Amino acid sequence: MNEKTVFGRIIDGEIPAEIVYRDESVTAFRDISPLAPTHVLIVPNRLIPDMTRATADDEPVLGRLLLAAARIAEEEGLADDGYRLIVNCGRHGGQEVPHLHLHLLGGRPLGPMLAD
Ligand code: AMP
Repeated sequence: MNEKTVFGRIIDGEIPAEIVYRDESVTAFRDISPLAPTHVLIVPNRLIPDMTRATADDEPVLGRLLLAAARIAEEEGLADDGYRLIVNCGRHGGQEVPHLHLHLLGGRPLGPMLAD
């Protein structure tokens, strides 16, 4: 049985977050420890723990995550200069919260894709 994660609690309004977008499938809110001037997390409202456990049933919501990210990037003024979308998965991917999420990062040059 999957426990509700910190993101599940944000989606359910149990803990506060600065929500920037919400629809029936996804919620987006600002990262609590931003790594760039804009750092927004876009998450499915229904728990998918990570990409490994996503199934064909999740295909619509996965598309919605990407399109929501692009819409938010435009609203944040990032579309012209560009931005980065990241999905961490599992231990080697550095995933800390086991509720699938897309990182939207921008507002400055983001450097090489990997730190090392
Ligand atoms: P990941 O390492 O890909 O699992 O990313 C988890 C992200 O969630 C990190 O960037 C954290 O700063 C962020 N985070 C953790 N708790 C919260 C919270 N309560 N509100 C907003 N962002 C959070």
